Amino acid sequence: MFNEFIGNDPTKEILRRLIQTRRIPHSLLFVGKEGIGKKQFALELAKSFVCQNKNELEACDDCKNCHRASNYNLPKPDDKDSHQKVIYSGHPDIGTVIPYKNSILVDAIRNLEEEANFLPYESNARFFIIDNAEKLSITKDNAANALLKTLEEPAESTYIFLITAQPSSLLPTILSRCQMIRFAPIENKEIENYLINKNYPTEDASLIASISRGSIGKALETNLEKYREQRDKMLKALESLISNQSYLTLLRTSEDLSDPKNKESYENNLQILQTLIHDLWTSKNNPNSNIINFDLNEKLANLSNNCTNENLSKWLIEIETLRENLSSNLNRKIATDALFMKMAD
Ligand SMILES: [Zn+2]
Repeated sequence: MFNEFIGNDPTKEILRRLIQTRRIPHSLLFVGKEGIGKKQFALELAKSFVCQNKNELEACDDCKNCHRASNYNLPKPDDKDSHQKVIYSGHPDIGTVIPYKNSILVDAIRNLEEEANFLPYESNARFFIIDNAEKLSITKDNAANALLKTLEEPAESTYIFLITAQPSSLLPTILSRCQMIRFAPIENKEIENYLINKNYPTEDASLIASISRGSIGKALETNLEKYREQRDKMLKALESLISNQSYLTLLRTSEDLSDPKNKESYENNLQILQTLIHDLWTSKNNPNSNIINFDLNEKLANLSNNCTNENLSKWLIEIETLRENLSSNLNRKIATDALFMKMAD
């Protein structure tokens, strides 16, 4: 039931209308930033076909089929074989394709092509959800091209839902074959209220909503204690940069950031640093606007008095450049040291 999801009311209405009129396009592209529920919406649409206890044609989320459809046993990230085919949910007519490392494997799409031609096993339609569709590789004879034929002439009972946060990375030939459903970031207030209803203390809910920037997925994942701890480290590095202290604090921060044991949180930590610099910029230039880390308002305002706009914008560009290069095989230790040295320059 779409009621369970927060935000995106206009999009819910569009999807409801599609369900009620049973005029669902065979190729749909769900577009919007990470963590706002695109995949859940796609799955919900598929469930509305297999549900045994529909409520105005919407899935009940409670019957055996709804439970089966929601039950995915995703393979381990390093299990390449399992990423070379469609991964089925507990329901044989609802499957998904996910990237292996940084791309969707061409064999997975070939398997999808075959499967898309079969008649449904149990329900009256089959559904394939391609998650992170921007990872369909674009070289000759690749996953993206393999998909085109299926999107062009889908079987009567087959539906393909592509999910992406980066539609501009998809081939124009794929874009033109799909109807787009857009999702907007969720309002801070909606996320905050959702968390308060889940018994988060109000102040925590408010800060989590602020740092998640419209992504309910990110909000639910955030460990505030860990966030504050990381933020303290980044703040110390900034204080040291701003007051021109020795390089020692910077090198220590760099070492900590690029330590292999912090690999998983590396990008997240860079983002925390970026957000703090952005907050400094806002404090300095638009003191009446809200900053993201509002609980540090006074501290950041004081700190911003001692830095120049030129430095702040330079730092943001340096971090952004590093983040863009992260997908290439970059030596994080060297790159992070270089980042702080450039920032200190
Ligand atoms: Zn159901």
